[in-house]
Amino acid sequence: MKTLPEKIKTNYERVLDEIERASKASRYSTRGVKLVVVTKAQPVEVMSAAYAAGVRIFGENYPEETEAKIAALGSMPDATWHMIGHLQGRKAKIVAKSFDMMHSMDSLELAQKLNDRLLHVNRRIPVLLEVNIGGESSKFGFEASDPEKWINLVDTFQQISCFSNLEICGLMTMPPIYEEKERSRPFFVQMRLLQRFLRTHLPAICWDELSMGTSLDYTVAVEEGATYVRVGTAIVGERPR
Ligand SMILES: *Cc1c(COP(=O)(O)O)cnc(C)c1O
Repeated sequence: MKTLPEKIKTNYERVLDEIERASKASRYSTRGVKLVVVTKAQPVEVMSAAYAAGVRIFGENYPEETEAKIAALGSMPDATWHMIGHLQGRKAKIVAKSFDMMHSMDSLELAQKLNDRLLHVNRRIPVLLEVNIGGESSKFGFEASDPEKWINLVDTFQQISCFSNLEICGLMTMPPIYEEKERSRPFFVQMRLLQRFLRTHLPAICWDELSMGTSLDYTVAVEEGATYVRVGTAIVGERPR
């Protein structure tokens, strides 16, 4: 029987292979797709095993948990920490100090708070604006389910782009979850259209990065132009409860 580190290594390599295959089949991906391995709620043993397997981008949702794990893990040269979940303003301080990228920027208020905290520690980090492309009330992100109303986003995004210590570089989304991965495709297509819209209306901002796709649908996301995919379960297994 395979040990946990062996399983994680096999899974990681399989997901990388599938990303490469999907990216060759895509008309959009011109650069390497980056794989964020989601380790939220996973213990440090799982993270060490992932690091040993070659993982360098870790996706996390709970800043306090992440901080504790980083302290417990010891030295992991080149490891980077990406915040992918909804961030409460009072925890912006932790992200400012310990994270390398923020995928889930979902309000003007939060942008202001994170920027203040980054100023304090003299850091500037890449940020993606999270959009709610499926319109589900349970999801965070700027409401973007109706293309007729995309124009309403422009002013807010413009304001966020003025914060000196946030480097906007694209969009992130978490569409409705379906077992059948093809059902995600229309949402990913919408993301590309929104990206094109924003390039037209806010050309001074970089919109190149698209963070979309999870364990269930990352291959479809890559086919539709994802530059970051966020995969947890398919690599490190089910999250412990
Ligand atoms: C948990 C999570 C993922 C990964 O989900 P899996 O189904 O385990 O691949 C991706 N993105 C976000 C925002 C998440 O919260």
